[in-house]
Amino acid sequence: MDKRRILILGGTTEARDLADRLGERPDLAVTLSLAGRTLDPAPQPVPVRTGGFGGAEGLVTHLASHAIDLVIDATHPFAKQISANARTASAATGIPLLRLERLGWEEVSGDRWTRVASVTDAVMALGEVPRRVFLTIGRQEAKAFAAAPQHHYLVRSVDPVDPPLDVPDAQYLLARGPFAVENEIALLRAHRIDVVVSKNSGGEATRGKIVAARLLGLPVLLIERPAVADDHRAETVEDALRLADHLLASFRKRGV
Ligand code: NAP
Repeated sequence: MDKRRILILGGTTEARDLADRLGERPDLAVTLSLAGRTLDPAPQPVPVRTGGFGGAEGLVTHLASHAIDLVIDATHPFAKQISANARTASAATGIPLLRLERLGWEEVSGDRWTRVASVTDAVMALGEVPRRVFLTIGRQEAKAFAAAPQHHYLVRSVDPVDPPLDVPDAQYLLARGPFAVENEIALLRAHRIDVVVSKNSGGEATRGKIVAARLLGLPVLLIERPAVADDHRAETVEDALRLADHLLASFRKRGV
């Protein structure tokens, strides 16, 4: 059988779940692409390729040389560059692109959120008065908080923040979700945290800190996602599975 070839751009739980479902199908050849940022990546259910493609141009070359029929961008809501590259490469090649992006968290009664548009805005929103900050935005962007060295930081990330933050008072925690609410409450209490800084990543694995902050009455500085328009979007793995079949069928019809 001539298998249809799917490239999933991953690095998220949804990408792995989707790969798991698509990988079971005998009519598909599925490859998962990872940036290679995580030192000890979780095992994946389909063949994996690792590392950047070399920008949008490199991605175009990869799609052509691997005869890809469908690209599924299941990267993190805040992985802006790879998503932009996927859109450019899809437009350049005509190969359909499906964006799988989980919904963001919604504010509920009891939440004390301040929504900000960027990491830089989050740094500013902490204010002048020293605070005890739980920083959970990933190791790559944490360094922006060196601009506000008056605060105490508890920084949690999957891999070490290297070099450490250029601030006098920071502690580091290495951990990979999912995080249970009761453990998050205990952590926030033990470190006497008075503000949580998070991206609006959505999903269950890291929601615990948001719920914990609500239950403890703590404010959350929530960095919102960049707004982008995609032609084909799914918010769940189930939706993505349906749309993937639709896109594969229409791509074949065009005889490309
Ligand atoms: P990014 O800024 O959008 O991407 C930077 C560069 O990394 C891209 O231009 C590309 O290099 C390469 N890249 C990113 N994702 C890739 C993938 N899945 N396969 C191959 N190359 C990839 O991305 P980021 O924010 O650094 O995130 C990197 C990875 O971590 C992503 O896979 C994302 O899903 C995951 N992640 C990100 C966050 C976050 O908060 N940003 C959180 C959790 C997980 P080339 O231009 O050379 O192709």
